[in-house]
Amino acid sequence: MINTFFDTSLEFLKGVGPIKSKLLFKELGLKTYRDLIYFFPFRYTDRSKYLNINQIQSVNIDVQLKGKISQIEIIGSGRKKRLIFKFEDSTGSIELVFFKRISWIKKFIKKDQIYVVFGKPNSFNSKFSIIHPEIELYEKLKNLPQQSFCPVYHSTELLRKNNLNSRGILKLMNELFIKSKKLIEEENLSDNIIKKNNLLKRSEAVFNIHFPENENLLSRAIYRMKYEELFFLQLSILKNKSINHKNKSFKFREIGKHFNSFFYDSLLFELTGAQKKVMKEIRKDLLSGFQMNRLVQGDVGSGKTIIAIMSFMICADNGFQSCLMVPTEVLAFQHYNSLTSLCSNSNLNIALLTGSTKLSERKEILEKLDNGNINIIVGTHSLIQPNIKFKNLGLVVIDEQHKFGVAQRASLSQKGITSPHILILTATPIPRTLAMTFYGDLDVSVIDEMPPGRKQIKTVHKFDKDDDAILSFLLDKIKQGEQAYVIFPLIEESEKLDYKNLISGFNKLQNYFSQHNISLSMLHGKMKSDEKNEQIERFVQNKSKIMISTTVIEVGIDVKNASIMVIENAERFGLSQLHQLRGRVGRGNLQSYCILKTPYKLTHDAKYRMNILVESSDGFEISEADLRLRGPGDMLGTRQSGMLNLKIANLVKDGNILTIARHDAQNILDEDFNLIDIQNKSINRYFAKNLHQKIKWMKIS
Ligand code: ADP
Ligand code: MG
Repeated sequence: MINTFFDTSLEFLKGVGPIKSKLLFKELGLKTYRDLIYFFPFRYTDRSKYLNINQIQSVNIDVQLKGKISQIEIIGSGRKKRLIFKFEDSTGSIELVFFKRISWIKKFIKKDQIYVVFGKPNSFNSKFSIIHPEIELYEKLKNLPQQSFCPVYHSTELLRKNNLNSRGILKLMNELFIKSKKLIEEENLSDNIIKKNNLLKRSEAVFNIHFPENENLLSRAIYRMKYEELFFLQLSILKNKSINHKNKSFKFREIGKHFNSFFYDSLLFELTGAQKKVMKEIRKDLLSGFQMNRLVQGDVGSGKTIIAIMSFMICADNGFQSCLMVPTEVLAFQHYNSLTSLCSNSNLNIALLTGSTKLSERKEILEKLDNGNINIIVGTHSLIQPNIKFKNLGLVVIDEQHKFGVAQRASLSQKGITSPHILILTATPIPRTLAMTFYGDLDVSVIDEMPPGRKQIKTVHKFDKDDDAILSFLLDKIKQGEQAYVIFPLIEESEKLDYKNLISGFNKLQNYFSQHNISLSMLHGKMKSDEKNEQIERFVQNKSKIMISTTVIEVGIDVKNASIMVIENAERFGLSQLHQLRGRVGRGNLQSYCILKTPYKLTHDAKYRMNILVESSDGFEISEADLRLRGPGDMLGTRQSGMLNLKIANLVKDGNILTIARHDAQNILDEDFNLIDIQNKSINRYFAKNLHQKIKWMKIS
């Protein structure tokens, strides 16, 4: 391959050299001219004006000053050693303080020269000072553009030590742009798209991101680069989506005895309109001859399980095996139980396979999967081990998808020889912009209606001091025949301490309720699965009245008689998780309650979370708020969002650009799927070079 200008190693840029080029790579991943050009500023500051020192008023806002150093002083020693400059202009003076790199700075800074100082002032004893400001000779700065929108680049401690702070990087950028002149890379969008969206040309946008000529051009430049990034991301996702749709799969033509006997004999309620609509969509997919790749989104309690079961029945009617994969053993056990009881009149063979299935039993199950004696298998991710073979796997249902990683979603679906149909259920209603990206390759059905008769769960925020009142409330309700959950946090970092809390919480409740002959259950991740199942069974059968548990029960557990959810240390949970936990109650006709318990002193953020939950029961609203608080990475697992590697666009903030870009990408694919039209030449060239590999992880089959 010919080395183009943009592939040149940064080593050869004036002012870099071998040592700095290694550092730039190690610290920021920048290797070539191109890498540097696409290393965008993360914010801009006003460097066009100088403030008089006597005009400084507020702390924590960047100021730029021009003046001289009149005094140099080193005080303290060891760790407390610091270098202090007295810096003055004609109106007053201010202290500049350095804790690090003292000898290095001292060597370069001279009295009686004019310097430009930039940083955020602090106020101490009503005197202003700036800690670790940028300081540079006025003389040297003259060559750099002094703008109202001066770019600020990320740097690191090591880079700063080597003179590559944000300013240092800007100098390199300047050098590079002088060198590249008009060589900026080719356009990668089509004229049509540029015109339609009134976008800046690529070269203009890239230039203005680093050296904005004015505010308008800067915002258009940012818009253009965000658009471009999201457009190619969506193009890639949508391409995958259509390719998936072309995967051949089994046609399920029969609606036969399994489905009918379930529907007419076992199903005790009328399906909601939303459930019917989703079933129709699934039915259509299963008849198409192509692989179903469908995501069903529905808030906790909206009735997704029934959808899965009816799909299993159709699969069985057509002579195929199906599999239900869930994230926890507890949930696997519960789904297995309800499936076996709902299908007790049928001759379907249903099996459970988890990490704690005994070896001999496991061997037998594997054999039966292979010879077709098992119709439906329920399991945890132990279902995706490579030694598991199915005779004719026709349908895979993944429940509570948000708990799985993408990789697991992908590897399960490779099992069958022809692609099995795939149905994914998720209760975390993800905001639309995220769904378009993370599940953008799937068809989406939404269950937007709750089964009838549900009462709104009453949510309250209480403090630890309200313990007695909470206990007597619980006692009251239990005497009326209802049941409750009490949840304790358990997170890995403080596992031991949390475990102690759980046990002492259990003992406290035990002491209180044993006086009233009320029996309790306890559940936590460290228990053996037999023990867990026993505890759950006692609770399901209403033999124990309170389930004291860690978040193992967060997903899926369904006990209609449980009407109270107490969450201890609620401030330690995220919004979506709290909403999921709350969803364990209010599953029948009983008026249900959720009590969020926290210490009295709370962070601002925690207060905000409690308020949202008290005020809202709408999963979408809550997930939007969660997204704003935590960002997409945390919501879907850092690994998944990290893989997208977005340079400038933000899935949370740029939802409107994303929507437009996705729409444009879809239009182009509709007209010219292979991008062979001359009009789409630049899109095709860029896509082929940069993107076809990138989103592979999203592909399901
Ligand atoms: P989720 O969507 O959280 O998985 P489930 O499938 O567990 O919800 O259903 C929640 C509860 O609602 C279950 O007890 C289920 O039997 C019940 N349910 C589901 N659909 C209906 C319906 N159409 N009418 C009445 N109850 C329903
Ligand atoms: Mg469920």
